[in-house]
Amino acid sequence: MNVHKPILCLDFDGVIHSYESGWQGVGCISDDPVPGACDFLLAASVVFDVAIFSSRSAKVEGVAAMQAWLHRHMTNHLIDTETPADESDVHPAERAYEFVHETISWPMEKPPAFITIDDRALTFDGMWPKMADLVRFKPWNRKKAS
Ligand SMILES: [Mg+2]
Repeated sequence: MNVHKPILCLDFDGVIHSYESGWQGVGCISDDPVPGACDFLLAASVVFDVAIFSSRSAKVEGVAAMQAWLHRHMTNHLIDTETPADESDVHPAERAYEFVHETISWPMEKPPAFITIDDRALTFDGMWPKMADLVRFKPWNRKKAS
């Protein structure tokens, strides 16, 4: 059975990974998920083919690091949110592994997405942005009251 869902392309750093420590290398992922990220991924995968695509994706090492990181955090999330009613014979670590490796797509090139979520992008609405606004751009987690 091959059911095609629209592709939801998700950036990794600053969207799924909180990225508080900034860039530390393609295979180095130091921080926690953005709150709600695991629940969002689980819900989004019902409706979309969820593809995680990042500047890390160009390297096998980067994809492996993102997968290992998400597996660890998704396992903890499933353990934390499991109720006695949904305890199954399959351990949360195994369910998380299947989710990360079989449900989520990890393209190494930008996929033909229906929609993309990125912390460093604007939605183009036909109006060209001002250079000054682009130069001053800050992602959501770098905005500080000044
Ligand atoms: Mg980003």
